[in-house]
Amino acid sequence: MESIGAVLQRLLAESPEKPLSDRLQALAERICKEEAMSPEERRRADEERERAKCEAYNNTPGHLKDGYYISTIQSDSTFVEGDGYDCPLCMNRGDTMVLEERNGFLYERHYECKCMSIRKSVWRMKQSGLEKSIKEYTFKRFEVKEQWQQMMMDLAQRYLSEGVADGRWLFIGGQPGCGKTHICTAVAGKLLYKMPVIYAVWPQISKKLKSIVNEADEYETEVGKLQEVDVLYFDDFFKPVAGEDRYGNMRILPPTAADIKLAFEILNYRYINKKPTIISSEWYINELADLDEATASRIAERCGEFAMMVGRDKSRNHRFTVSTVV
Ligand SMILES: [Zn+2]
Repeated sequence: MESIGAVLQRLLAESPEKPLSDRLQALAERICKEEAMSPEERRRADEERERAKCEAYNNTPGHLKDGYYISTIQSDSTFVEGDGYDCPLCMNRGDTMVLEERNGFLYERHYECKCMSIRKSVWRMKQSGLEKSIKEYTFKRFEVKEQWQQMMMDLAQRYLSEGVADGRWLFIGGQPGCGKTHICTAVAGKLLYKMPVIYAVWPQISKKLKSIVNEADEYETEVGKLQEVDVLYFDDFFKPVAGEDRYGNMRILPPTAADIKLAFEILNYRYINKKPTIISSEWYINELADLDEATASRIAERCGEFAMMVGRDKSRNHRFTVSTVV
């Protein structure tokens, strides 16, 4: 029977007006050559080819640093943003190909490069919503002049070393400007190096979610992200809003029923699943209990000792209390 290699060569010779591609010709020659080889020679040729392929792969730069285009069904030019990290080990491919021998056969394996842990944290940072503030709100920049500030710092550090692994929550309540967002962001920033974190400013996220409450799929997806993420940071939780009450007087309005329902939906899920959650609020936990007992009691329980209320004092000579239970 005529071999495939011989058939290909015959085709080349018989149809000079329709030349097959150079690649096909090389293939034909190779097949013919290999057919004439002994099994040992063939194995060595295979090995050589695999090694050349491996070398070519490892010498080809990737696009993780600068970004790349991908084709999708909807569009053929979706640009995936690069992470900006330049890695000399993998030339920004993210992996290295290695040949491994098993039972006399060579297998190619791809090993993730060390740079991927850095890339993943850069990516997580971009996804988290904390990319900008994380540089500003660090532990180093947190001002410690008074005892309550030291307590805040110690609590945050202790939460990182003991609380997170235990699925505890961190709550800092107090007036604007007392540094609660700063310290909570510093905690979230440290965690981002190890796990995904979502930073959500309550007034914005609740507005967004309430606007899509009737679009079931989208709502479920968005709420699901906040329920499932490894660490959630709610900033300005139940931010007090000034407005007219039903008698037309300006006063601080309590959160609406929709706000309360939404907060419970997210926080109750995280409570049941013991997922670390960071909350900063102008309210104290006992005041939150007056607004919504169910959510506040869950916050108090999951926080345990990791809750701090910074005293409200216009002279900024803050008092402090540490709450354990509402
Ligand atoms: Zn690399």
